[in-house]
Amino acid sequence: MRAGPSQEDIRRHNLGALLRHVHLGGPTSRAELTSKMGLNRSTIMALTSDLTAAGLVREELPRETGRAGRPSLVVRPESSRVYVFAFDVGPDRLAVARVGLGGVILDRRESVRRRGAFELDELTGALAGFARQMRRKTRADTVCVGAAAAVSGGVRKADGVVTFGPNLKAEEVPFGEELGRKLGLGLPVSVGNDANLAALAEHSRGVGVAVRDFIYLHGDVGIGGGIIAGGQLLGGHEGYGGEVGHMVVNPGGRACGCGSHGCLEAEVGERALLEAAGRFGAGQQGRDAVRAVVEAADRGDIVAQEALSRTGEWLGLGVANLVNIFNPEMVIFGGMLREIYLGSAAQVRTQLTLHAMAPQREQVRLRTSALGDSATLVGAAELAFAHVLADPLEVLARANG
Ligand SMILES: [Zn+2]
Repeated sequence: MRAGPSQEDIRRHNLGALLRHVHLGGPTSRAELTSKMGLNRSTIMALTSDLTAAGLVREELPRETGRAGRPSLVVRPESSRVYVFAFDVGPDRLAVARVGLGGVILDRRESVRRRGAFELDELTGALAGFARQMRRKTRADTVCVGAAAAVSGGVRKADGVVTFGPNLKAEEVPFGEELGRKLGLGLPVSVGNDANLAALAEHSRGVGVAVRDFIYLHGDVGIGGGIIAGGQLLGGHEGYGGEVGHMVVNPGGRACGCGSHGCLEAEVGERALLEAAGRFGAGQQGRDAVRAVVEAADRGDIVAQEALSRTGEWLGLGVANLVNIFNPEMVIFGGMLREIYLGSAAQVRTQLTLHAMAPQREQVRLRTSALGDSATLVGAAELAFAHVLADPLEVLARANG
């Protein structure tokens, strides 16, 4: 017979739940926590005092409330003391941030990288170098409790190995393990697909907060996606789910890097747009080049307008398929798709009207990313905090060694 959860299990769960509340919701009064968590006052008091003793939160008197009586203490995360490292390996940039509990970006470094595949050693060396620079500037009482990286490519759920991706020269790359070794903090480095993590970021802190079913579409050079279903990321059997960029929208269309033809990514990706706008090559690439097409279209450039219009049609067709299949409450356009959508919203909506079924279509809201270029980095930070929120005291004990 299986025993039910022990008192210790329940306490551990409640500590994590309380910490999650202040991590995502910001400073919260004890009274609010009592009602939100459905626990009694003395339990909330005991939990906050445990988390305070561990240095994860602190309690303060609120600012003047104007009401009579004893005010409820406000619980706030120790953002400047407890932090994680978040890494983002994009096609055109490397970014590293030191992110405090509560999601505060305390420090951030970014470098432009030339496009193409890198050696694992070179890439992890550069990222660890940034982290070391930041660590040298921290106060002595700070504690790093986790690290995670967003990479464009496929990440196997079972072991976090990057099995494919445009940024690394080899396949089956133990990226997290190598970065962890170079960081030398004695912490494992979690790894996730960049679009999946950006979706989680929008769900935790962006336009998708409190939206239980949405699809996030991420454009960089290619198109990635993250599907949030019932409040959870849909990872699929091995963690590769959400590769909406390789949904075929135009059989017999443009060749795709994956070997197929007419994938959403091949028709809507950066190269397709720049070629259609007559701007491919000539040293123009990346989000700036995409923004330049949208700006030119705004100014009345007909070639740019036509390129954007065609791209918007393919994008809308892809969105219509996704809306039919997943019945999302919201579709979010992030990365360079943010710009492309803003420049072609009319075409996207037309395709949706033509191809999506009425009940799904009428409910769905189309939105742009609230976190913009930080979405992947914010998502990596949330991944790094995940195990802290699952078991706060254990993680802290380990970090303090
Ligand atoms: Zn493809």
